[in-house]
Amino acid sequence: MEAKIAVLAGDGVGREIVPEAVKILKAIGHQYHHSFEFVAADIGGHAIDKVGVPLPSETLSLAKQSDAVLLGAVGGPRWEGLDYSMRPERALLGIREALGLYANLRPAKVYSNLVDASTLKREVIEGIDILVIRELTGGIYFGKPKGIEQLPGGGERGVNTEVYTTEEVRRIAKVAFEAARKRRKKVTSVDKANVLESSELWRKVVIDVHKGYPDVELGHIYVDNAAMQLVRNPRQFDVLLCNNMFGDILSDEAAMLTGSIGMLPSASVGAKIGLFEPIHGSAPDIAGKNIANPIATIASAAMMLAYAFQLDKEAEAIEQAIIKTLDMGYRTKDIQSPGARIVGTVEMGDAILRNLS
Ligand code: NAD
Repeated sequence: MEAKIAVLAGDGVGREIVPEAVKILKAIGHQYHHSFEFVAADIGGHAIDKVGVPLPSETLSLAKQSDAVLLGAVGGPRWEGLDYSMRPERALLGIREALGLYANLRPAKVYSNLVDASTLKREVIEGIDILVIRELTGGIYFGKPKGIEQLPGGGERGVNTEVYTTEEVRRIAKVAFEAARKRRKKVTSVDKANVLESSELWRKVVIDVHKGYPDVELGHIYVDNAAMQLVRNPRQFDVLLCNNMFGDILSDEAAMLTGSIGMLPSASVGAKIGLFEPIHGSAPDIAGKNIANPIATIASAAMMLAYAFQLDKEAEAIEQAIIKTLDMGYRTKDIQSPGARIVGTVEMGDAILRNLS
């Protein structure tokens, strides 16, 4: 296949980890005879320094003309004094909105060699492989009315509104069922249908969409129980389908099961172009030292192959190369363990590259 990939390294460690992921994608292209074209552009602080805005129009048009976007991270102390509207992080909101990315996919997978990096007991987390799917553009963060109003008798009243339409639930439910088909074919939909009408509609629509996916198992769980079950028995979950707020909270909880921020990839998908990025930030404290862990970004590239290009075999090859590299004892500093072979960012990328074939 042919694909054009926008490469937005951004700031801090983004500039070190993204080249490692590109290196892996190039090798996959070569090995499996795909033609990937990589076009780089500035975003975040580097874009501010060059052209005065965090998301230049050229960067946005490149993203829109590409088949997928690979993003590093943005931000850093250098730009912290700027007005909020001009901060590097504004670029993230801008690009997500412009690409219409309504679904965020965050896998939380525990690699067997890194089980002890988690704060939870080995027997609880060993073997977990969960995909949290969070609705990104609806729900209480966007619903109206919202605001704080003065009350006539004194004091104030704060209001937010949880709103979902049939169509918004339908499209995110489809993402969940499609993703489950690539995995263990089980979707657990999270709601609070015993209390919230918006959740009642959510559940009704999810059940309706499920009729088109008889090969996928569907279950429902109240959000409070989901939070509890994630630390009690996380292995029961395959795909967790969540609204915006429940997904915001549960995806962080699921991420922490795995213990290491440098290992976690993510994908945001919409109608057309997907954006793939590690969940961590620009890590200014370790930037420029060749010690950042590139695995989250390399795993994000694997998600790009699976979810943007339907290249499941190639995505699996990257996953296996990561596992093999960890099995061989290679570790970056953030995941070091006794007796491990501590390597830098580039060396970790090289080791994964060698294990690809
Ligand atoms: P962070 O994720 O950058 O760093 C948190 C901690 O994790 C740090 O100790 C860091 O060294 C470590 N870490 C992160 N990635 C790592 C990696 N690949 N390998 C090894 N260790 C890693 O979060 P922060 O410190 O809160 O934020 C730093 C900057 O990043 C801020 O400007 C923030 O606004 C920005 N940020 C950007 C994004 C994004 O671009 N998507 C996300 C979060 C934060």
